[in-house]
Amino acid sequence: MGWKTLDDMDLNGKRVLVRVDINVPVVDGTVTDATRVQRIVPTVRYILAAGGKPILLAHFGRPGGERRESLSLKQLVPTLENAFEAQVLFAADCVGSEAELAAEALQPGQVLLLENTRFHAAETKNDPDLAAGMARLGDIYCNDAFSAAHRAHSSTEAIARLLPSCAGRLMQAELEALEGALGAPKRPVTAVVGGAKVSTKLELLGNLIDKVDYLVIGGGMANTFLVAKDINVGKSLAETAMKDTAADILTKADKTGCKIVLPRDIVVAEKFEANAPHQVLPSDQCPDNSMILDAGPESVAEITEVFAQSHTLIWNGPLGAFELEPFDTATNAAALKAAALTRSGQLVSVAGGGDTVAALNASGAAHDFSYISTAGGAFLEWMEGKTLPGVAALEH
Ligand code: AMP
Repeated sequence: MGWKTLDDMDLNGKRVLVRVDINVPVVDGTVTDATRVQRIVPTVRYILAAGGKPILLAHFGRPGGERRESLSLKQLVPTLENAFEAQVLFAADCVGSEAELAAEALQPGQVLLLENTRFHAAETKNDPDLAAGMARLGDIYCNDAFSAAHRAHSSTEAIARLLPSCAGRLMQAELEALEGALGAPKRPVTAVVGGAKVSTKLELLGNLIDKVDYLVIGGGMANTFLVAKDINVGKSLAETAMKDTAADILTKADKTGCKIVLPRDIVVAEKFEANAPHQVLPSDQCPDNSMILDAGPESVAEITEVFAQSHTLIWNGPLGAFELEPFDTATNAAALKAAALTRSGQLVSVAGGGDTVAALNASGAAHDFSYISTAGGAFLEWMEGKTLPGVAALEH
C-alpha cells in the first residue's frame, strides 16, 4: 500500500485539510441520518488530539457549480459540533481571502468547515487552479472520503498532488478491508453478485471471474444467466439481449477455474408483490405466467456450503426481491450464515454498494460482517478492479 496514514504525519500545529463525505440527508433543515458524520469523528478527533487544526472540505448535493443556499454546508455546523464535541467555525467559500483568513485564525481545539466545494463548477473538472486555492489553506491534505474517491475532482485528486497527503481513518479502514478481500485474500474467495441487472454489473463480473474461486450469482441477474442456458424464465425480470454476454461469462469462468453458482431452485410468483402466492420449483420449471423472485432452499443450502468452505467473501447485491416479504428469505439466510462464519473467525466478509447495505441491515446480519462499505459507487468501481483516482493520488 503506497499511501500514508495519519500516523505517518507530524500534525502538531499544522492546518490539516480533510476531505470528508458529509453528504447527509436533510429534511426541513433537520439531519435525518448522521451516519456519515459519525464515521469521520475518529479522524477529526485524532487530528485535534495531535495538536492539528482540521479544516473540512466537502461537497453537499448537486448544486451544479452554482451557489445555492439550500445546499450550503452551514446548516450542518450544529450536527458537526455535537459529533466532534468541539467548536466548528464556518467559512462561506472553500477558497479565497475569507477562507484563508479563517484558516489562519483557527485555534487549537477548533474545527473549520469550508463551504460546499461544488459551488465551484471547476471542482468536478479537477481544475488545478481551484485545487491550488484550496491547498493554500492547509499544510497537510488528508482524504477521508473513500466514497468520493472514484471521482477525480479538485478536492479529491488534484489537491493531493500539491500537499503532503495521507488517508484518514475511515479511508484507511476501507482500503485495508478491500485490500484484504481482493488484493491479497485468504483463499478460497467467494463473491456474491446479486441485484437487478447484468448490464450494470458486467465489468464487475468480468473482474471477479479472474480473481475469485466461487461466484454466486443471484437476484434478477441470475435470470439472465438461466436464459443463457436456454432455460425458460417466464415473466421474470431478465435481459434477453444480454444472453450472449452472460454465456461468454460462463465460458470464461470455466477457463479461469472460477466456479459459478446459479440457483438450483427458485421461488416463483405471478405478481411482483409482498406476500404474493408463491411456490418453490426447480430452476428450469418456471411457469410462463410466473416470475422468479427469490432463490429456493436448495440454492441457499449450496450457497451456505460454499461460504463454509471459503475464507473470504465479497458481497454486492441481494439474492432476490428483498424489499418484498417473503422474497427476502434467501438473502437473509445467506447473510446470517456469512455473519455466523465471520463471528467464529473463519471468514472475512466485506459487503457494499447500492442496495446491499439496506438488504444486509434488514437481515440483521450486517453488524457481524467484517466490513460494510457505505461507499456505493466507489465500492463498485473497486470491485470492478478500477483504479480510484482519489486513492491513486495519495500514492504519489
Ligand atoms: P441492484 O441495485 O442492482 O443491486 O439491484 C437491487 C434490486 O434488484 C432490488 O430492488 C431487488 O428487488 C431487485 N431484484 C433482485 N432480485 C430480483 C428478481 N428476481 N426479480 C426482480 N427484481 C429483483
